[in-house]
Amino acid sequence: MIDPFGRQVTYLRVSVTDRCDLRCVYCMAEDMEFLPRGDLLSLEELERLCAAFVRKGVRKLRLTGGEPLVRRGIMGLIGRLGSLIGDGLDELTLTTNGTQLAKYADGLVAAGMRRINVSLDTLDPHRFAAVTRRGRIDQVLDGIMAAKAAGLAVKINTVALRGVNDDEYERLVEWCGAHGFDLTLIETMPMGEVHADRVQQYIPLSSVRQRLERSFTLADSDHRSGGPARYVTVAETGRRLGFITPMTHNFCESCNRVRVTCTGTLYMCLGQEDAADLRAPLRASEGDHLLEAAIDAAIGRKPKGHDFIIDRAAGPTMARHMSVTGG
Ligand code: SAM
Ligand code: SF4
Repeated sequence: MIDPFGRQVTYLRVSVTDRCDLRCVYCMAEDMEFLPRGDLLSLEELERLCAAFVRKGVRKLRLTGGEPLVRRGIMGLIGRLGSLIGDGLDELTLTTNGTQLAKYADGLVAAGMRRINVSLDTLDPHRFAAVTRRGRIDQVLDGIMAAKAAGLAVKINTVALRGVNDDEYERLVEWCGAHGFDLTLIETMPMGEVHADRVQQYIPLSSVRQRLERSFTLADSDHRSGGPARYVTVAETGRRLGFITPMTHNFCESCNRVRVTCTGTLYMCLGQEDAADLRAPLRASEGDHLLEAAIDAAIGRKPKGHDFIIDRAAGPTMARHMSVTGG
């Protein structure tokens, strides 16, 4: 799959549910309304969809959400997708809030998963409860340690939030170093109305990096994870530290990915509204020719890039919530 700007699309992110057991303040509103269950693709439909993308050249699949591990039957789907590894697929991975990892870490490894991203914005139990509006940090830390014990490489994702965790980045770098985890810091993006003040909470990561350089020796690294993060190596811990800066640095020129929601809507760019419905062609026939034609047409109009702006008066740049497309 080659888009109009010559970029090869090899990475599919699949949001398997819009539901979640947490309500992170930057991601969801407290009173989120979720989709009617009938709108969701079944697990069989998600499997058909992923398999079609793999046949068309996708080599990396990431499951996300909502919280992917709260979808009923998800481990069955993960097992079936895992069987595509080595048969077109190079990697199956997951972005999770970690609450269910203690239960599922071994199963993920058995399905062929080798690394996962876990979102963790703070190490402080009270802050964690506040930022997630309902989470218990012990459950997540137990999950992360279970993942490590099962042999999964863990990368921690932290959204940088002024007034929430802006005094914790040094501690997070050290904690990740002590446990052998890489860490990626993410700028908050203007996705969905969440009743939190993003203008107040937004921190440009260029200033965070400058600050961390007072405590750590950061060496630029040319490591690429196939994503938008730019990495440095922290000499003191030997671990990688990534920065995802959609607001301050546009990385669209090397974009290799598309996203599909749990209703089968394909978004060719996280920061644009244009989308293609894949559920109708998926359901219209038992064969996959209509589905594959719809995928080709959509890739043929992947936009050049996004245009996020954080502006109080204008509201969110994108009306949809991050939990729809999974970040
Ligand atoms: N529930 C899973 C989790 O939290 O990892 C997967 C879905 S979550 C939507 C994926 C990632 O998006 C998380 O790392 C989360 O912190 C990030 N995210 C959510 N809303 C965001 C926003 N407005 N700006 C930047 N990152 C956001
Ligand atoms: Fe749930 Fe992940 Fe969104 Fe937090 S960031 S509310 S864990 S989907």
